[in-house]
Amino acid sequence: MNRIEKEVLLITQEECAEVVQAISKCFRFGLDDSYQGKTNRESLVLELGDLQCMIDLIKESKLVSTNELNEAVRSKRERLQKWSNIFRQNAA
Ligand SMILES: [Mg+2]
Repeated sequence: MNRIEKEVLLITQEECAEVVQAISKCFRFGLDDSYQGKTNRESLVLELGDLQCMIDLIKESKLVSTNELNEAVRSKRERLQKWSNIFRQNAA
């Protein structure tokens, strides 16, 4: 791994932790609760944006192939359709 690849992965790791924290706040206090002038939903958007940026940089730096990543996304959707209630009608 070169220096840039290491930095991209390190920052991605940090952003994953920040997404986990933002989701935790949504569960604990609700989406519309505010902290330091931002709702938890707004903080979640910002952290998901940070993470999406890092995923884009992982693709741009060729750390993983875009085709393989797209296939992993497709495969995850398929497993969620089988093993979760996310895509079922009347999901509460
Ligand atoms: Mg962040």
